[in-house]
Amino acid sequence: MNRSLLFFIVLSFRFVGAYTIVLDPGHGEKYTGTVSAGGAIVEKDMVLKLTKKLAQCLSKAGYKVLLTREGDEVFNAKELLPDLIKRAQFATDNKADIFVSIHLNASTNKQIHGYEVYVPYEAKYPIKSYGLASAIHYALSHAIEPQFYGGTLGNLNALDRGIRASRFNVLMRTTCPAVLVELGYLSHPPTVKLLKTEEYQDILVNGLCAGIRRYILHAQKR
Ligand SMILES: [Zn+2]
Repeated sequence: MNRSLLFFIVLSFRFVGAYTIVLDPGHGEKYTGTVSAGGAIVEKDMVLKLTKKLAQCLSKAGYKVLLTREGDEVFNAKELLPDLIKRAQFATDNKADIFVSIHLNASTNKQIHGYEVYVPYEAKYPIKSYGLASAIHYALSHAIEPQFYGGTLGNLNALDRGIRASRFNVLMRTTCPAVLVELGYLSHPPTVKLLKTEEYQDILVNGLCAGIRRYILHAQKR
């Protein structure tokens, strides 16, 4: 290996390595989040599993990845608001470049299904958050779409519910570009069935991973 190539590799490693991603698996401990009928999937457990897979994918790409929780734990088991504030603070304390919170949704209407990407409403970094959200939304929909008609998982029907603005505490209090992704509805039995498969979990994780990488690569070119 010649010296200039070695220098280039060291330089690119430092360039990529300097980027810090904070991932936030929603809920934890007594904050179970939503639970599917019969209790087959509990949001706090499934989002932790998905987030760990995502962390692995992003670490492999060379980024520094930190999780707000590594197990069934929370920052504050007594009160929810301080727990949510601490998640955002964790990103600030660790000088995160981006913050991505991972969730699963629920509705009283069992017909509602699909995924949503949320940006902070009137936050400090609305445009960058929107850039991150659209990169994730783009990659996630492209990971899911090939499954729509006769994919290996059958005729998947995961509706694209778009990018939305929200006052979620973890988004409003984060000081870097931040998004919250709702990957599906646990109140929708076909989604629960899909989420039980590693194949569908990987489709979602690969979409998220590709979207985050896409945003970072574009952000670094500016
Ligand atoms: Zn949630």
